[in-house]
Amino acid sequence: MTEVQAVRHFVRLSQLNYSVDTGFFPLGSCTMKFNPKVNEWAARLPGFAGAHPLLPTEQSQGVLELMYRLERSLSEIAGLHATSLEPAAGAQGELAGLMVIRAWHMDKHGTPRKKVLIPDSAHGTNPASAALLGYQAVELKSNSKGVLEPATVAAAMDEDVACLMMTNPNTLGIFEEHVEEICRIVHEKGGQVYGDGANMNALLGVARPGDMGIDVMHYNLHKTFSTPHGGGGPGSGPVAVAEHLAPYLPRPIVVKEGDTYRLDFDQPMSVGKLRTFWGNFGMHLRAYAYIRELGPEGLHAASRLAVLNAQYIRALIEDEWDVAYEGRSLHEVVYTDKKLKETGVTTMDVAKALIDHGYHPPTVYFPLIVPGALMVEPTETETKETLENFAAAMKAIAAQAREEPAAIKAMPQKPVVERLDETRAARKPVLRWSPGFDVGA
Ligand SMILES: *Cc1c(COP(=O)(O)O)cnc(C)c1O
Repeated sequence: MTEVQAVRHFVRLSQLNYSVDTGFFPLGSCTMKFNPKVNEWAARLPGFAGAHPLLPTEQSQGVLELMYRLERSLSEIAGLHATSLEPAAGAQGELAGLMVIRAWHMDKHGTPRKKVLIPDSAHGTNPASAALLGYQAVELKSNSKGVLEPATVAAAMDEDVACLMMTNPNTLGIFEEHVEEICRIVHEKGGQVYGDGANMNALLGVARPGDMGIDVMHYNLHKTFSTPHGGGGPGSGPVAVAEHLAPYLPRPIVVKEGDTYRLDFDQPMSVGKLRTFWGNFGMHLRAYAYIRELGPEGLHAASRLAVLNAQYIRALIEDEWDVAYEGRSLHEVVYTDKKLKETGVTTMDVAKALIDHGYHPPTVYFPLIVPGALMVEPTETETKETLENFAAAMKAIAAQAREEPAAIKAMPQKPVVERLDETRAARKPVLRWSPGFDVGA
């Protein structure tokens, strides 16, 4: 192979990918915001990029200071006491948070307790994390407005419940308006409240989970704080806790003594170490750059704009598209395919048709409680024109579905592959070229 052949091969492959740098990515619940290039500049600074995790403390001061400052920022944004940067994803943050809750119950009640309450709108990682720790996940029904009723929690709450896990705004994009009362009900029976912070993009600088009564929450730096989702690459899911839970956080933590920083492993009540070295430091760095680039007013503006953008799309297409819940939503909107019923066109067909209109499909068939769900989250980083163009595509698809549904069902036609067998594509992916197979053909 010559260099030019290798370069052309990889550049061509990269051009087959859809990415946030090439187009709008309205995946609901994923917060696919633009990854600012200043983050990448910061991550490539030689002192950070070249820092070896086994460097002695004196030579890692910059790295440790950055982690310390990020930890302080995340604790402040959450309204909580302390944060561990160790977990590598939201899901691992959940695991870490539940381990902390379990350790606290062991100390306080002499038992880990048995159950974790989880609303039916929750992300699948919530019951999975609970089950991984041996807890029984108990599903709670949301009401007709898409939120959790205090009475539902009260009826399920007893002294076998370790915690309630709730997402706010929830995965329907709706603010859980009874959160304070719900926290009180759980606390009265000695339980804890875990806040899934994946939707923090709606709340930055507006409201703080800690002030609502949440005891533990995770962040997804690859969502809220603009670090790349990275095609399965490194994420980061810091877990923040209230003061009474801080001694149980994963170790080590970064401490500041005078003007110097060091990793403190001497945390006897800690649930232990969950991740090699410092966690995904490259993501800490990018998230910190984003936070400092925006500052407090900027973060607040980002959340307000994320909500405004979602509301704008909602208003632009509400005549053509059925919104799953009528009440107010925040940074994302869930539609259904109900209005297309008689055409035979389904949510999956709409997702495929959007590809031909030049968009990555939104999240589909999630949350599970909404039949034919189509979930759109524009984030703050898209322009008014992009939102209008996307709305026009959604309208065009609805109109075409009525006139020529078969054409919609044959989409997408534009990408190098048409509709894939989704199971085989996931289970038996073709990851390299072999004679007779040409993805570009
Ligand atoms: C994304 C998400 C998670 C899981 O986070 P990962 O970083 O993908 O592991 C959990 N809960 C909700 C509501 C999410 O949107």
